[in-house]
Amino acid sequence: MTDPSDLRLRQYPDPILRERAEPVDEVDDRVRGLARRMIEIMREADGIGLAAQQVGLTIRVFVCDVPADPDASETDGVVTGTDGPMVCINPEFVDASDERSPFDEGCLSLPGLRGDVIRPEVVTLKALDAEGRPFEVRGGGLLARCWQHETDHLDGVLIIDRMTQMSRLKNRRKLRELERA
Ligand SMILES: [Zn+2]
Repeated sequence: MTDPSDLRLRQYPDPILRERAEPVDEVDDRVRGLARRMIEIMREADGIGLAAQQVGLTIRVFVCDVPADPDASETDGVVTGTDGPMVCINPEFVDASDERSPFDEGCLSLPGLRGDVIRPEVVTLKALDAEGRPFEVRGGGLLARCWQHETDHLDGVLIIDRMTQMSRLKNRRKLRELERA
């Protein structure tokens, strides 16, 4: 059993980042303790999202804390921010918009790298909260992007796999540096 205090941020090329996480069977105090520690680590690193693999766990859990976009109108029930830290367990997308857009993404596990990733603009996320209660929420903007980025982590997928060709070339040297470090 993992002690939450043992968790630390993992960086590329740590092989755990390429592992596929397993669904959580039961949302218990142990899972809640790990999620709480993940929120702390995310905050310490000034991140807006953090997935289990990034702290050395292979459970389908991510946390995020995204401020709402003050310019976005929350019509059509699309939310753009979290109301404080959000815990998502066994997340899946039940819907994604046809509209896709590029956005300059970074990742706490890939320090110094940034690049354009094209993703659906609006997605509907289904998951369990920290109490094990199911919820479904439609998100847009940075929030939708964060959910997709974190869910990718749970499948062992990193932004370097999804970046545009141009961004991939631009980051090639930085990536080699991380591989050699
Ligand atoms: Zn990341």
